[in-house]
Amino acid sequence: MRVVIVGGGFAAVQFAKTLRSKLRASECEILLFNRENHMVFHPLLADVAGASINADAAAAPLRQMLPGVGFRTERVQRIDLSSSEIEFDDGNGALTRLHYDHVVIACGAESNLGIIPGMSEHAFAFKVMRDAIDLRQHIVHQMEYAEASSDPDRRRWYLSFIIVGAGFSGAEVAGEINELVRSSTRFYRNFRKDDVVVTLVHSQDQILPEVATKLREFARKKMERAGITMLLNTRAVAATHEGVELNDGRMLLGATVVCTIGTAISPIVQSLDAPKERGRIRTAPDMRIEGQTNAWAIGDCAFTINAFDNKPSPPTGQFAERQGRQAALNLIRIVNGEATKSFHFKALGQLCSIGGYQAVAEMLGVHVSGFLAWLMWRGVYLFKLPTWSRRIKVALDWSWDVLLIEEGQVEILQKDPGTSDTKVVAVLGKGDFFGEGALLGNRPHETSIRARSAVRLRQIGSALFVQIAGSFAPLRELLVKAVTRGSDFWRRLPVSKSMLEGESIASFLDPLPAQLLTKETTFADAINALNESAAGNLLVLDENQRLWGTLDRGDLYQIIARIAVTSAETRGDISHLKLSDLLIPNSIFIALEDSALVASATMLDHGISWLAVVKSKDDPRPVGLLRGEKISKRMLERIAQGQPTQARVAS
Ligand SMILES: Cc1cc2nc3c(=O)[nH]c(=O)nc-3n(C[C@H](O)[C@H](O)[C@H](O)COP(=O)(O)OP(=O)(O)OC[C@H]3O[C@@H](n4cnc5c(N)ncnc54)[C@H](O)[C@@H]3O)c2cc1C
Repeated sequence: MRVVIVGGGFAAVQFAKTLRSKLRASECEILLFNRENHMVFHPLLADVAGASINADAAAAPLRQMLPGVGFRTERVQRIDLSSSEIEFDDGNGALTRLHYDHVVIACGAESNLGIIPGMSEHAFAFKVMRDAIDLRQHIVHQMEYAEASSDPDRRRWYLSFIIVGAGFSGAEVAGEINELVRSSTRFYRNFRKDDVVVTLVHSQDQILPEVATKLREFARKKMERAGITMLLNTRAVAATHEGVELNDGRMLLGATVVCTIGTAISPIVQSLDAPKERGRIRTAPDMRIEGQTNAWAIGDCAFTINAFDNKPSPPTGQFAERQGRQAALNLIRIVNGEATKSFHFKALGQLCSIGGYQAVAEMLGVHVSGFLAWLMWRGVYLFKLPTWSRRIKVALDWSWDVLLIEEGQVEILQKDPGTSDTKVVAVLGKGDFFGEGALLGNRPHETSIRARSAVRLRQIGSALFVQIAGSFAPLRELLVKAVTRGSDFWRRLPVSKSMLEGESIASFLDPLPAQLLTKETTFADAINALNESAAGNLLVLDENQRLWGTLDRGDLYQIIARIAVTSAETRGDISHLKLSDLLIPNSIFIALEDSALVASATMLDHGISWLAVVKSKDDPRPVGLLRGEKISKRMLERIAQGQPTQARVAS
């Protein structure tokens, strides 16, 4: 018996694997045709575009995945259901015909930029590996052009990215682009994070229509906080060289447009003489094409009712895989003379990455969001890759020693090689990682960690992390930074280090701002307070007069940008918005008993120029502000007066 499979995606691979595992090569020849010699893991494409992973990590060689299955890269041109033959291009322009006993059509869908005028010429599609690689290169070029540009408007245009559609692929790619460009700003001099504009245009009132409302909300908030602008209930009506025209008449300017909406029927399906529903091939419940006994359709190209809920199967990887497996089992039933079964599948859940190591997940009815969901998301897809799965399994057996701070603060202690004394060198807060120095850089153990308040930590397998970090460059960078915190910079400036160690914070302290805000302060009052504040740094207190958050002009611009793009109905009356609705509670502050070294290292580590100072580690009532420039000035004065030889050595 010869079984021909057309396609090499989720559905086809699962079909071929299942069939091969049940029928010996002598019983059944399996021949799979796919245009490319690899299977693409679409959910990882956004990571390729965002430079988080290399292209080869999101594609698996089909020959390696499918031992015992014949594999051809010719493009199948036509399927003749009446004569049980396929016709394929032999590569020399001639058409070859091949007889089959069963054919399985699993050719997916094609992207279709033609649905919006101008998209074909000016936008990137996001469907195949080439799209992701081209997009990544294009993004890197835009950053280079922005660096070279002296015109602020042009620079902003280079750094503006418009993503049309906020389903899985749109949300994932927006998150990744945002993360890539914002985290790359530190390598450029001519632009900053604030210059980057990533806009997600979506025709419905909520993003990610595939997931539960609570998770959608979480995803939206997280993405907005990361700086992504959401234009909901808005449609793109045309694309030009300058950007995207919207249905409300506005023109969104941006050098990069990614269109994640619009699918087209594959030509092979178009020419197929079979019943169709909205372009997809209608199948019987057992996944054979309606009216056929030896032709099957599975995955995105098929219209199959799921017997679990009597609804059409959605075009997702999960359904495609499951159909592949169940259709293969049905074919075996036919071979064994048994009755076939209807396609029946209760979806396991949904996972979507939203950039910045965050994801939303709904697994077997449980909602998970944030970093843990992101790890789950990675885990699920890594497990599917043939070589990665082995690595991850080994990694999971290893010890657990990378920690993520979920609540509270810890301090980093470092041993002085000369005196063997241990001193606090920096403070970490919510969202920071830490781990053993030896973990990534094979450095001697010279750093330790101590809780400074009640903390909640999450343990993450070190081996798993190292495995992942090895291939996901930004994560590796983050971890290296986390485990080497506070050490590299000071190693190069020994004079300043010893000087700052001896300085108390009190000698640098600026008084508290004249006006202290509370969580209940309205946004309008906060703007007035900032307006009146010369320094532009304000503190927000909780009901017990403890420090709750901080506000400066940078925060203000971000909040305004967010409000400006939210539709009037969604945002409500701006004058009623309170700081507790708009700000993230502050996790980084410093206590009066800390040294100026701890304060400087903490500011350096978090890329900030000022810190709130509280009474003590146990009493987080604010007592003043500390500005980086004051410490730098004192350092320079001391170096100039004091130890020139050491200062030269240090530089
Ligand atoms: C960017 C992106 C992100 C996504 N994220 C998610 C997600 O997070 N979760 C989820 O569940 N789903 C996701 N999806 C959807 C999921 O990828 C698809 O539902 C799934 O790939 C469908 O599998 P398939 O086997 O039907 O088709 P495909 O995976 O598209 O494979 C079809 C294959 O057939 C080949 N082919 C087509 N015509 C021919 C021909 N004539 N001859 C030879 N070969 C041919 C193609 O080259 C292709 O390799 C995403 C999709 C995209 C594009």
